[in-house]
Amino acid sequence: MSKTKKFLLPEAEIPTQWYNILADMPNKPKPILNPGTKQPLKPEDLYPIFAEELSRQELNMSDQWIDIPEEVRDKYMIYRPTPLVRAYNLEKALDTPAHIYFKNESVSPVGSHKLNSALAQAYYCKKQGITNITTETGAGQWGTALSFAAKIFGLELAVYMVKISYEQKPYRRSLMQAWGAQVIASPSMSTKAGRKIITEHPNYQGSLGTAISEAIELALQTSNCRYTLGSVLNHVSLHQTVIGLEAEKQMEMAGEYPDVIIGCFGGGSNFSGISFPFMRHTINEGRKTRYIAAEPASCPKLTRGVFQYDFGDEAGYTPLLPMFTLGHNFAPAHIHAGGLRYHGAGTIVSQLMLDKYMEAVDIPQIESFEAGILFAQTEGIMPAPESAHAIASAIREAKQAKEEGVKKTILFNLSGHGFVDMAAYDQFIAGDLTNYELSQESIDKTTGLLEKII
Ligand SMILES: *Cc1c(COP(=O)(O)O)cnc(C)c1O
Repeated sequence: MSKTKKFLLPEAEIPTQWYNILADMPNKPKPILNPGTKQPLKPEDLYPIFAEELSRQELNMSDQWIDIPEEVRDKYMIYRPTPLVRAYNLEKALDTPAHIYFKNESVSPVGSHKLNSALAQAYYCKKQGITNITTETGAGQWGTALSFAAKIFGLELAVYMVKISYEQKPYRRSLMQAWGAQVIASPSMSTKAGRKIITEHPNYQGSLGTAISEAIELALQTSNCRYTLGSVLNHVSLHQTVIGLEAEKQMEMAGEYPDVIIGCFGGGSNFSGISFPFMRHTINEGRKTRYIAAEPASCPKLTRGVFQYDFGDEAGYTPLLPMFTLGHNFAPAHIHAGGLRYHGAGTIVSQLMLDKYMEAVDIPQIESFEAGILFAQTEGIMPAPESAHAIASAIREAKQAKEEGVKKTILFNLSGHGFVDMAAYDQFIAGDLTNYELSQESIDKTTGLLEKII
């Protein structure tokens, strides 16, 4: 048999609440600290940076379920529920006994899962009377999603875009501009953080960490303005749980339950989104499921980083977060999965790693593109280079099932499509892409600079 089968939920089944895994975790993440005093932060301490409701969600350890505002759910209806697809053709190409399912978040109008949190963040800012928001974007997906969300909720948005992406991915910039956002290449001369880096390293191509510093600085210096972030933070993972909550019902429609759940990993939001709703059964009922975060071999914070307090940005404007990190000064290679080039992992995921609820794998760049092409050839969708890491990991699992001759149900999240990333596929097809070896010395160098707090 070779037919792709989709499992679609009726609109009424779009979740009405997000799942807050913090309430269920046996060991809560260590507190977020004020970098000056080293004291744990309270929600009020975050109000100058984030909308108040988002600050409260960030530190909410007690409510297992949090209502999705009607206005946000209403916008989710533009593209949710997203399809769950059984990838028969990929299974056939791999000649595997494994059943492979993917949750297709690429159908969102902006092309990725990022809109799930962008809509919520824009809504809470608007509701509080905020008029302007800032953010950073790496490959451009978060900036694109937030531009659309800001437009439909009536907010002004300034996006600091990592310089190399600004130059390599002009179409994401045009998308943001089409939706009305101001886009600035980072590092820029518009902030103190940007000027400092440009002065010290005139040819610096930018990084997410630098762009975050610039966006926070602008937010703090502009009245009625707040900063937003598309990954890493607890409230972002919370909003993304719509993915897994839908997938849980859809797997039920398919009559199966996943043995392995996979998401690619930048700061952890789409991985959290697909896995946390399932993980609640592992935590609360002891259900045996494996959860795999697929990160790029060139930016391996979960497998080769250290667990330490670190800043979320390069200049050190953010609170100190307890996380797996390569150090906030780590400059990842310029791989094409721009959304995965981030030095740290969110605090929830980091704690779940420590407690061995989940595992991580490193995928070399070439393997990710080979997986992306095979997926396109079998299932017809060009995956985002980021998502291709999840596909590569799913393929490894399916091949292993074949070797061992066992049936295994695999679910991965297709976090986005790659239509705006075709320049990268061009290079791959032309044979111009390479893998990046990352030496232990270079990891030791940036992790060695971290102040030892734990
Ligand atoms: C941003 C992005 C990622 C990585 O971010 P996470 O927060 O780790 O999910 C992965 N895939 C796509 C398509 C993205 O846009």
